[in-house]
Amino acid sequence: MVKRSRQVTNHEQLKQVNAALVYQLIDQNGPISRVRIAQQSALAPASVTNITRQLLAHNLISEVEQQASTGGRPAISLTTNQRNFYFISCRLGRDMIQASLMDLSGQIHHVQQTPIESHDTQGIVDTLRDEICQIRTQYATHKLIAIAITMAGLVDPTSGMIHYSPNHKIAGLKLSSALKDLALPVYIGNDIRARALSEYYLGEAKQCDDFILISIHHGVGAGIITDGQLLLGKHRPIGEIGHIQIDPFGQRCHCGSFGCLETVVSNQALLEQTKELLQRGHQSVLSAEHLTIERFCHAALQGDAVATHLIRQAAQYLGRVLGMLVNVFNPEKILFAGEMIQTAPVLFPLLLEQIQRQTLPSFAGDLRLEQARFQQQDTIGGYALIKRALHESNLLQQIMADE
Ligand SMILES: [Zn+2]
Repeated sequence: MVKRSRQVTNHEQLKQVNAALVYQLIDQNGPISRVRIAQQSALAPASVTNITRQLLAHNLISEVEQQASTGGRPAISLTTNQRNFYFISCRLGRDMIQASLMDLSGQIHHVQQTPIESHDTQGIVDTLRDEICQIRTQYATHKLIAIAITMAGLVDPTSGMIHYSPNHKIAGLKLSSALKDLALPVYIGNDIRARALSEYYLGEAKQCDDFILISIHHGVGAGIITDGQLLLGKHRPIGEIGHIQIDPFGQRCHCGSFGCLETVVSNQALLEQTKELLQRGHQSVLSAEHLTIERFCHAALQGDAVATHLIRQAAQYLGRVLGMLVNVFNPEKILFAGEMIQTAPVLFPLLLEQIQRQTLPSFAGDLRLEQARFQQQDTIGGYALIKRALHESNLLQQIMADE
């Protein structure tokens, strides 16, 4: 009996994996003909016909006529229906929860944000639930398929468990279970990793299968895409480059160690270093009273001695870590997000010089440093979590089972 049911399960799983593969091909390469789907997926034409029939029945894809370049009868191709399906994407920030209603094309239909008043488990779960319910009520006629939640820290997307948050007391919270009463699939993920995937789907890394996103705000983190796949440990988070030690006798980091990268290269670190130099009496257009990261970046671009010195130093520290990453992952490009990127004309050549100094010439020779498309710490990461869930089958099956 057991054996038989396992066989059925495997057959069902195979069908689900094939359906997801066909959906993904249409989503990424559409409009695309059934013949080309069969060629690219190596599935039998009859299977492709069968799967596309089901996807059409659930309104997940549409047929479009495409005129062949050689003339003659227009061919029928398939494309995904991105604007019929909505999801709520939340970003759990340090002091705010931002929530938006998005569709599968990435268009944002509604955004709202609310301050976080209580940073413990109950407070965070209640605030998230309130935000989601408000949007749900307001857009009751929209077809909601899922909820995505991104945040800084160590999270396990598979189990929905939060292992560590630098900003809230929620370690050990199984967030997807805590929001089970909403009766929608909940996907959670680390903000930077999810945003790297969003750059791949929608941003500056389309068609780029090997790249790294570096985010510099209060902390420093990385999302690594290699061979078109976001690197995620099975149950072990990766990409925490902010805690690579730069100075063993440096400042204490919130992780407990000393002199981590994010204690020397982050918005806060740059502002503190500036204040220190100003206090020592170094000449600058900047003043300690009105110092902001935007003013600092502007001064660096104007050639201010203090700001330029600190950008040069930051490029050295950051470049050292990036050099390691380039030697290990050999990316085609590195994308940067964060306020500090306003200094790109000054920062990027310095960084590239530092990276080239410590990497294989063939690795760094054609490496490009670019600004990421998505610069704000907003809810775009959730888009990637939902896309990935559709492409990796379980969300697609839930949508088809619902109707
Ligand atoms: Zn640290």
